[in-house]
Amino acid sequence: MSTTYQIINPANEQIVKSVDLADITATDKVIEKANKAFESWKKVAPGDRAKLLRTFAQVVADHRQELAKIEVENAGHTIGNALWEADNVANVLNYYSAAPERLFGKQIPVANGIDITFKEPLGVVGVIVPWNFPMPIAGWGFAPALAAGNTVVLKPAEYTPLTAVKLGQLALLAGIPEGVFNVIVGKGSVVGNRFVTHPLVRKIVFTGSTTVGKQIMAGCADQVKRVTLELGGKSANIIFADSDIERAAAAAPGAVFDNAGQDCCARSRILVEKSVFDKFMSSFEVAVKKFKVEDPALPTAEMGPLISKKQLETVQAYLTKDIAFTGSAPKGSGYWMAPTVLMPKSATEKVWQEEIFGPVVSVMAFDDEADAIAKANDSQFGLSGSIWSNNSSKALRVARGIESGNLSVNSNSSVRYWTPFGGYKQSGLGRELGPDALDAFTEVKNVFIATDN
Ligand code: NAP
Ligand code: MG
Repeated sequence: MSTTYQIINPANEQIVKSVDLADITATDKVIEKANKAFESWKKVAPGDRAKLLRTFAQVVADHRQELAKIEVENAGHTIGNALWEADNVANVLNYYSAAPERLFGKQIPVANGIDITFKEPLGVVGVIVPWNFPMPIAGWGFAPALAAGNTVVLKPAEYTPLTAVKLGQLALLAGIPEGVFNVIVGKGSVVGNRFVTHPLVRKIVFTGSTTVGKQIMAGCADQVKRVTLELGGKSANIIFADSDIERAAAAAPGAVFDNAGQDCCARSRILVEKSVFDKFMSSFEVAVKKFKVEDPALPTAEMGPLISKKQLETVQAYLTKDIAFTGSAPKGSGYWMAPTVLMPKSATEKVWQEEIFGPVVSVMAFDDEADAIAKANDSQFGLSGSIWSNNSSKALRVARGIESGNLSVNSNSSVRYWTPFGGYKQSGLGRELGPDALDAFTEVKNVFIATDN
């Protein structure tokens, strides 16, 4: 039996739409359909599969305005971000459209024969997506999965299913055969969990909280199901005295408050070298106060509301003490919150250790290079981070010293679709994007052919 869910625009609390939630029976049907479609999809000639993915990319690009508008209403994303997100789906599809014709195996020297390897698709891949970046995170899973010859069942987050549903329709419009790319709207505990337990789903790509990620990994163990996990973060933004302090301070709000801080790569811990702490903080305060929190549909918006009342309450519960200063936010209806800067007194504080997933940043001073690395690594997470220094040898040493998957020097950018993305420690397992992501969607088969007969 299906139930329905009302989607609320987080900027004004108006109901956007009601959606039906799938139950287990409906989920099983879609998984079976995807499994049936796999038989023919895996046999589509590489060049034809490539062409279909390029057409899909073009159709997504043609609908970028519509997709972006949906995301602004559904998730409160700024229009600038939402357009980038729609383009990211098209770019990722284009990037992996080159893969079907390049899924090379190896020829390995052996005696009395030939040994060759094949990269074969897994079957049905289940992609479970969170609400913070509904479009890109979906694309990072389904594009390489489809390119490698798998079929996909995709479950968007309950809060943000609308762009995923639209992408499912656009796939059909592009000529992707029925059953190859399926979007199922439903609860994580029902649909998502069924992906884990259903034997026909051969791999799970999960992005979301570390808590649910651990449950999924444990569930997958039962069938030795393949799994990729992209989980939480508490990334450090390290500012050395020999950096361009003004530039680092001007960029720091965007690095943590973008998407209202609901970003696994958010630089939510700022570490500043002691000798420039006050100088950094005064420039940072100016930048935070200037950060534009407003109606996300406006092209000038740098930050919109949080996703839900629940998320707003969760985030605000962290703000009990040590507030240094805040920016501003609209009043009235909507899940609005001003960007907030904290100065915790100890690294054991919850605000310094836990992923808050809201527009909150904590700042602390460090003594020297070794102390910066030690403080950055004092976390269960290791997803991204930034290092600001004009001494490139030092910056590289620090980058090598930090236990994290994605670091940037004199920049806060973490994500490029053509470079690998993923976490150390409890930030995840495996890598998405880049040239090697296909390995996570294929099995290697080794075949030996005797020639001595
Ligand atoms: P979540 O519970 O981990 O949800 C992520 C996805 O997993 C959603 O599609 C969710 O579906 C699904 N899911 C939930 N329980 C499941 C289960 N037992 N089996 C299979 N799938 C399941 O994250 P959340 O509750 O939305 O957010 C909670 C916190 O997680 C945030 O405050 C933040 O700290 C962190 N988070 C991190 C990221 C990231 O990118 N690293 C993203 C989102 C959240 P439903 O939406 O239907 O529950
Ligand atoms: Mg949850």
